[in-house]
Amino acid sequence: MRIILLGPPGAGKGTQAKLLKENFNLAHISTGDLLRKAVADNTIIGKTVKSYMDKGNLVPDNLVIELLKERLSLQDINCGFILDGFPRNVAQAQVLDKVFRDRNLNIDYVIYLKADAPVIIQRLSGRRVCSKCQANFHITNMPPKKEGICDNCGSHLYQRNDDKVEAIKNRLKVYLKETASLIGYYLKQNKLFEMDANFPAPLVFEKIKNVFSNPTRIVLPDP
Ligand code: AMP
Repeated sequence: MRIILLGPPGAGKGTQAKLLKENFNLAHISTGDLLRKAVADNTIIGKTVKSYMDKGNLVPDNLVIELLKERLSLQDINCGFILDGFPRNVAQAQVLDKVFRDRNLNIDYVIYLKADAPVIIQRLSGRRVCSKCQANFHITNMPPKKEGICDNCGSHLYQRNDDKVEAIKNRLKVYLKETASLIGYYLKQNKLFEMDANFPAPLVFEKIKNVFSNPTRIVLPDP
């Protein structure tokens, strides 16, 4: 199974990707994670992208595409995968279509997670991430047992720079300007499944599983 998760920041793409990975044994490919690793490792790409990411802007296409192609060359994708955070604009979607065409692969589902701005802001501004194992927590929705400390490895939790309110507002603007047009792009390809992602993660995951058992695509009416 090959899945693209589409939707604004804070819609729960990362959370649903983890559930899909655990339940269906798929590789989870998050371009945000690949980029954050490049920053943490202080690679040439990492040094270039940090300021874009801190402000909540998209990093240049060529850099993210380079990381994605490298990731798609690993063996684990043969069991199927979830793309989380890619594509983020039409140019990236076109590159992805070509990569898949060249490899004789296709995307089975594009799942569009729809969430409202107040829900998004509440989720992102309360998110805390472990500085060591990258586990995610939330100050109210999923607080750690001990404030500021990771339940899994005992390391310090921090707030991502792009989860601060000004950057969140910019990410939402960027989403509307650059990414939202992908809804139409995948609608035209008859691949789009839309769902209300304002609910808690387990409920949204149930809806995604319903799509797999009863795939009712959104189909464009005949012109
Ligand atoms: P995410 O973890 O998906 O929210 O991504 C965090 C940040 O990484 C984004 O705000 C962008 O700066 C950058 N990023 C992730 N994926 C992409 C992409 N496909 N294209 C451009 N920038 C990206």
